[in-house]
Amino acid sequence: MLTFKCPCCGVQADETELTPGGEAHLKRFGPGASDADFEGYLFMRENPKGVHFERWRHAFGCGKWFLAARNTNTMEVYGTYPAQTTEPPQSIKDVLTARHPGWQWRDFS
Ligand SMILES: [Zn+2]
Repeated sequence: MLTFKCPCCGVQADETELTPGGEAHLKRFGPGASDADFEGYLFMRENPKGVHFERWRHAFGCGKWFLAARNTNTMEVYGTYPAQTTEPPQSIKDVLTARHPGWQWRDFS
């Protein structure tokens, strides 16, 4: 079972207390965007076997959204952080770099 520490209220929450919100760090396209950009925003998602960044809501707790970095293959959670960020904090990047040599952050646009 997945367990995340909610960065908003500090509670260690099982996945039964949480609601998944899909991929994190999407670049949003709105009015004036090309059809291809808007289509990509709506439908194109990463589906990696390995490191993934996701949105979660502490639905049966504080109710707030947060972001999590985890491994979809091993279910290892690297960390959670507030949803109001455009990329993971350096502490999570350091963990990922140590665990997966050669891994590096990329802009998800
Ligand atoms: Zn919470």
